[in-house]
Amino acid sequence: MEIAFDYTRSLGPVLGQFMTALRERRILGARGADGRVHAPPFEYDPETFRPPGELVEVGQAGTVVSWSWLPEPLAGQPLDRPFAWALIRLDGADTAMLHAVDAGSAAAMRTGMRVTARWAADRVGSIRDIACFEPGEGPPERPPEAPSTTGAGSEPVTMTVTPVRLRYVHTASAAESAYLRGLADGRLIGQRCPACGKVYIPSRGTCPADGVPTDSEVELPDTGTVTTFSVVNVGYPGQQVTPPYVAAAVLLDGADIAFQHLILGCDPGEVRMGMRVRAVWRPRAERGTTAGGIGYFAPAGEPDAPYESYARFL
Ligand SMILES: [Zn+2]
Repeated sequence: MEIAFDYTRSLGPVLGQFMTALRERRILGARGADGRVHAPPFEYDPETFRPPGELVEVGQAGTVVSWSWLPEPLAGQPLDRPFAWALIRLDGADTAMLHAVDAGSAAAMRTGMRVTARWAADRVGSIRDIACFEPGEGPPERPPEAPSTTGAGSEPVTMTVTPVRLRYVHTASAAESAYLRGLADGRLIGQRCPACGKVYIPSRGTCPADGVPTDSEVELPDTGTVTTFSVVNVGYPGQQVTPPYVAAAVLLDGADIAFQHLILGCDPGEVRMGMRVRAVWRPRAERGTTAGGIGYFAPAGEPDAPYESYARFL
């Protein structure tokens, strides 16, 4: 399973300048009312709570004031080999910034060591324009960097995009496993509670009302009734169906609980409570045991179900 989205936010006037400068291989700090230089810059002075005045450039080399070794980096972290997370006080600054140090081994790290920024080849106005820091003083003078004067590279940076990814492995229960294997076969497998007789699909293996195992399997038809629905009009990155489209609660015939699915194959304005629908299955080759076997539900062309037939499932 993977849950992923791009978190996008505006940077504001201070961090916008900070990110824009990084694109030009310059690191900015903010001088506070007490004379101390904070790098990265603060947005509000910790003493006076006012925005900073002019931002000042600090050095690209600095001193490690604290660090922690990371033996097994995760996907998306600054380096794909072991590295140190370090607090680095850049020359000319009075506060430290957090970044990665590519030192090779923990034995090469120590508090007080000198490090220098290593710049990314492609810079977009992000903290990751500093690829990492490396031990040593680096070149004594930074090669001059002419700010780009054309294209997007000349505009001030105003937004930042942070990709958020959560990937995890879900272990299916016996009941879920039967349901998922059924989908791959083009069958809908639910379970019936031996106490109340309700049919759940997908089943969690127990009846939430009676607390008893639901161990008898029931195969359900792939027809059902729309109980409630909403028309999705808002687009988002990665969307697989172009809006407007309908997401609905579909009550399969013989089931006692509705599940969510897409309603396609008709104008969104035609979808209504009580509408009869039928599953449109994915081609067999596309049905996995984890991906859904049903692509969407489409109008079945039958008279609407009377309200009383689904009212208790709303
Ligand atoms: Zn029950």
